[in-house]
Amino acid sequence: MFDTHCHLNFQAFDGVVDRTITEAQANGVNHILIPSTDVPTSKKACEIVGDQENVFAAVGIHPHHIFQFQMSDSEFDLTKELGEIEKLLEDKKVVAVGEIGIDRHYYRKTKYKDYQIDEELVTLQKDVFRSQIELAKKHDKSLLLHNREAKKDFLEILDSAWDKKLEGKTVFHCCEPDEELLAYALDHKIYIGVDGDVTYSDSKKAFATKIPLKSLVLETDSPFLTPEPYRGQKNSPSNLPLIASKIAELQDVTKEEITKQTTENALALAGLV
Ligand SMILES: [Zn+2]
Ligand SMILES: [Zn+2]
Repeated sequence: MFDTHCHLNFQAFDGVVDRTITEAQANGVNHILIPSTDVPTSKKACEIVGDQENVFAAVGIHPHHIFQFQMSDSEFDLTKELGEIEKLLEDKKVVAVGEIGIDRHYYRKTKYKDYQIDEELVTLQKDVFRSQIELAKKHDKSLLLHNREAKKDFLEILDSAWDKKLEGKTVFHCCEPDEELLAYALDHKIYIGVDGDVTYSDSKKAFATKIPLKSLVLETDSPFLTPEPYRGQKNSPSNLPLIASKIAELQDVTKEEITKQTTENALALAGLV
């Protein structure tokens, strides 16, 4: 199986990355894609994948972290940071740009003091989202897309920057249960990422029944979104089979079928076949 979204580059995995990967392999999760959220996590993802077989990286700046460029005392230079991201794209084990997108969710837990979402921030998120899609196109990389409570802005930018070469190489990661997003994804051969919340969220369960198998990929979003029966604990890629089992039950197909098809899809998404 292939965990297409697993933050082994986050602090939660400091010192236990190798063990976590070994445990995942023992549970049949042989491929992992590590998405990044800013320049330091992008660099860390590249370090991790360097000496791991079948573990790949995505680099990019997450919309939540665009806030750092807007703060009055900001020491961050956006052009410089995007330049760093572009440099990392030369690494062969970097298969995608991500996770990138738009995020209007108000995070209560954030490292930013006085965090707020205003239209100025969303405008900046849109600019950076567009620039990063262009980087993926320029360097022939895949796209890991993040959208939270921002469908309109998200689809506006994606649509204006879309290129046919991104078909089959893009995912709506942790896709919100939304018919319009699903229709857009199917129209553009974009994969839909399903996470552990499908084991407890009714809206995610209902949505999972509507996703055609050919468009489905699995992701744990570790260390977040731990599936039942381990909710409340730190998530790990070893829990990916629990997501496969739940979708198999919801779609009334065998777990083997889910496993086989989602692994094929994920390999294609990452440009590995
Ligand atoms: Zn995300
Ligand atoms: Zn993520």
